Amino acid sequence: MAARGLPPGVGRLFAMRAELGSGRRAYSTSQAFTEVLRLPSKQLTKLVFPLQELERHLAPGSKPDFHPKIFDPSLEDIGRAETIFTAAARNRIEYVSSAVRLDHAPDLRRPEVCFIGRSNVGKSSLIKALFSLAPEVEVRVSKTPGHTKKMNFFKVGKYFTLVDMPGYGYRAPEDFVDMVETYLKERKNLMRTFLLVDSVVGIQKTDNIAIEMCEEFALPYVMVLTKIDKSSKGQLIKQVLQIQKFVDTKTQGCFPQLFPVSAVTYSGIHLLRCFIANITGNLKINGF
Ligand code: GDP
Repeated sequence: MAARGLPPGVGRLFAMRAELGSGRRAYSTSQAFTEVLRLPSKQLTKLVFPLQELERHLAPGSKPDFHPKIFDPSLEDIGRAETIFTAAARNRIEYVSSAVRLDHAPDLRRPEVCFIGRSNVGKSSLIKALFSLAPEVEVRVSKTPGHTKKMNFFKVGKYFTLVDMPGYGYRAPEDFVDMVETYLKERKNLMRTFLLVDSVVGIQKTDNIAIEMCEEFALPYVMVLTKIDKSSKGQLIKQVLQIQKFVDTKTQGCFPQLFPVSAVTYSGIHLLRCFIANITGNLKINGF
C-alpha cells in the first residue's frame, strides 16, 4: 500500500498488518493499534507523539529547548511494543505481590521499571492506561489515610516487572522514605524510574523528594507529565517549557526528553509503552 500522505512508518505498518492478519491471535493483538493507525495524520500525531504535536505550536525561538525526537521510534516499533503489553495465554500480565520491605519483593529474574510520584499525580490512572490491553489486571489503590503504603509488583509476561511505588505527600513518613530509598538504592534489576509530575501544576515542592533521591543515587530516570488533557494548549506548552528547562539545567540523571501523557485521551501512552519495552531490553530500536 502506498504510504504517500501518511506519517513516516505507517506504510510499513500497513504491510505488517497484512502479515499479522494471517494468524488469529496475532491479529487480535494488533487490533487496538490498528484503530489508531486509521486516524487522520494530525490526530494520530497528537495521540502517539504529543510532544511533536506541541512543538508545531511553539514560537520559533523556543524550539531548541524542546527535545521531542531523542526517542523517536517508527509506528512499526510502537506496534511491536503493543504486543508486549497485550495479555494472552502466553503473555500473562498480572499483579504479583505487594511489599513494604525490599526483602519481601519478588525475585530479580526480570528487568524492572518503577513508577513514583506524589499522591493524586495520576499514577494509578497511568498504570491502568498502560495496562489497558490487559483489562483483567487490577491496579490496587490504597489511599485510606493511615493505611500501610506498599510497593505493588506487576509481571508483564516474560518481559519485565512494573512496580507501582506508594504515592508520597509533603509529610512523607520516615518509614515510607526508608522503603522507597532502599528500593531505589538497592534494587539490582531496576532499569529505569518513571517520575510523574502533574502537567497542570508543574514541579511542586513535594516532587523534589523524588527528584533529589534519583539524583543522589545517580539513577537514570524519566519525567512523565500527567493529565495533559486538562490544560489548554498554551498552558501546557508553558509548563512543558518550564519543566524542560528544569531538566536541562538542574538534573544529571533525568532523560532529556519529557513524556507527556493523558490517562483520559490515551495521548502519549503508546509511546511510553514503546520506551518501556525498549529500556527493558525487549525491543531494539534503531539509533537508540
Ligand atoms: P494517584 O493518587 O497518583 O494514583 O492518582 P489517580 O490516578 O488516582 O488520579 C488522581 C485524580 O486525577 C483522579 O481524580 C483521576 O481521575 C484524575 N486523573 C488521573 N489521570 C488523569 C488524566 O490523565 N486526565 C484527567 N483529566 N484526570 C486524571
